[in-house]
Amino acid sequence: MKNFAIGVDLGGTNLRIAAVDDQGALVEKVTLGTKVSLGRDRVVDDMCQAIQHVLDKYNNSAKLLGIGIGVPGIIDMQTGLLRESPNLPDWADYPVRAEIEQRLKTVVILENDANVAALGENWLGAAKDFQDTAMLTLGTGVGGGLVLGRSIWRGMNGMAGEFGHTTVEPEGHPCGCGNRGCLEQYASATAVVRMAREAIAANSGSALARAANADAEFSAKSIYNLAIQGDEDARRIFRYVGRCLGIVLSAMVNSLNLPIYVIGGGVSSAWEMFSPSIFEELRERSMVYAATGPHDPQAKHTGASAHTKPGPGPKTIITRALLGSDAGLYGAARLPMVPEAKR
Ligand SMILES: [Zn+2]
Repeated sequence: MKNFAIGVDLGGTNLRIAAVDDQGALVEKVTLGTKVSLGRDRVVDDMCQAIQHVLDKYNNSAKLLGIGIGVPGIIDMQTGLLRESPNLPDWADYPVRAEIEQRLKTVVILENDANVAALGENWLGAAKDFQDTAMLTLGTGVGGGLVLGRSIWRGMNGMAGEFGHTTVEPEGHPCGCGNRGCLEQYASATAVVRMAREAIAANSGSALARAANADAEFSAKSIYNLAIQGDEDARRIFRYVGRCLGIVLSAMVNSLNLPIYVIGGGVSSAWEMFSPSIFEELRERSMVYAATGPHDPQAKHTGASAHTKPGPGPKTIITRALLGSDAGLYGAARLPMVPEAKR
């Protein structure tokens, strides 16, 4: 190994640190628990100690390209402040970058975790053959990231790519961001469980209700398991997840005309349950997808796809992520290797 970078994935549950070389090989990975309840200074202390340990191990034999850190929440790139983070509740307006740089005595690059995952998939994952990529990460919330020309599109001050807070239901469920009816309220793991509880409230004798009573950790995974067994209530929930994703993807495809859109995060394991609805909505709602999507002789041709036929030329790809939870770790390590926005 000649050149390496350190990538950090600071999650609400796990803190992971990796040394990755400039060819994308994972050299070392350390996983720690994030001790959120002990306060932000303790979390930053733990992180910096672990980073220092990895640095000391490789610094003499290889050249450090930099340190990238993926953080859940909205970061102000100019100030290095964490503006808003649902998973790190007492971190609002905490000068996280300055605190880390002071401890490590070197510069670090902070980036939103969903942007970092998009960069990871663009470097080594599902979108590695493409310069430009958009990604949606379906986890506790719905994250979004946009990579243009192999670099993250940050916008004016680092807040771009919040596709998860696009409205899909004008009078819908209130969202943590202050809006209502955001995609996040219909396509996250949290939303899948809430929609199941709503279905149970309407029909307490259903298989869904029995599963919720029997399962102390009734989760999106439990609902997915029912869906693959053929339970109609569970299937309806995933169809709705796909429908809402399809509505937002239609707007993204129409406005961005990118070659590839990647869907990752824990809920993407239920791909076969929700993806048919995504493609139905895209064909129905997006003229750009109708013109550039793959030809499907089985599909109903209504809406946009009745109006516009697919032509020759490059196709729009909507696909699953490949790197799983490592996307964030690889993407964070990639940050020092790609041109950075001014700070
Ligand atoms: Zn929202």
